[in-house]
Amino acid sequence: MSITSFELKTYLDSLLRTNEIADYCPNGLQVEGSSRVQKIVTGVTASQALIDAAIAKGADTLLVHHGYFWKGESQPIVGMKKRRIASLLANDINLFAYHLPLDVHAELGNNRQLGELIGASDITAAANAKPSGVVMHGKLESEHTTASLQQKLSEVLKRSVLAEGDSSAPISTVAWCTGGGQNFIEQAAELGVDAFVTGEVSEQTIHTAREMGIVFFAAGHHATERYGVKALGEHLHSHFDIDVEFIDIDNPA
Ligand SMILES: [Zn+2]
Repeated sequence: MSITSFELKTYLDSLLRTNEIADYCPNGLQVEGSSRVQKIVTGVTASQALIDAAIAKGADTLLVHHGYFWKGESQPIVGMKKRRIASLLANDINLFAYHLPLDVHAELGNNRQLGELIGASDITAAANAKPSGVVMHGKLESEHTTASLQQKLSEVLKRSVLAEGDSSAPISTVAWCTGGGQNFIEQAAELGVDAFVTGEVSEQTIHTAREMGIVFFAAGHHATERYGVKALGEHLHSHFDIDVEFIDIDNPA
């Protein structure tokens, strides 16, 4: 089966409500390639390694969470940026990127998917963080301590996980934000949950965790953001009956 790139763009922009969510980058079709879409490769970041893997797979479309043209980045298309864009154009590959709209989507988003991996129920968007869905919270379905939740996160995300807090502290309620969400720790503490899970840590995050009495986990920016684009790809496969393949380019950050 195949669809047009215009059909795909229209479908994704509407599904992910791109015109309702302010962001730091353009969401949607960032680099135009083939007008026919038959083979989509999905991945977290449009790095050269992912582009090369998409070319090797014969893909006409690359769908990612982290694309290009971030607010504040240098605009000239030189160096690494030139090589990436040249590879896409030379191989007629569409680059679709969805950042915040993919973090917050109620079913397919990074946060929803991470909540399910954590084993949370009653998953709710935090009312004190914008856009809605950028922080979610819920109850853990099984009993946990800091140490056992650290171990569970490490198993499901397949990497080591930093934990800050008393290792035997009981944890029954959790808030989370995938990726670089450490600055939401204060909003998480305001929710009154036992723990906050995100991808990255900063020096000051540890002090905030200690002083606000919330257990903190940093489980990897890449690792916590694999699952939104993966779920979105699976959705596209079942909706359009087109070939979609998720490729994980490992990243320890
Ligand atoms: Zn991210």
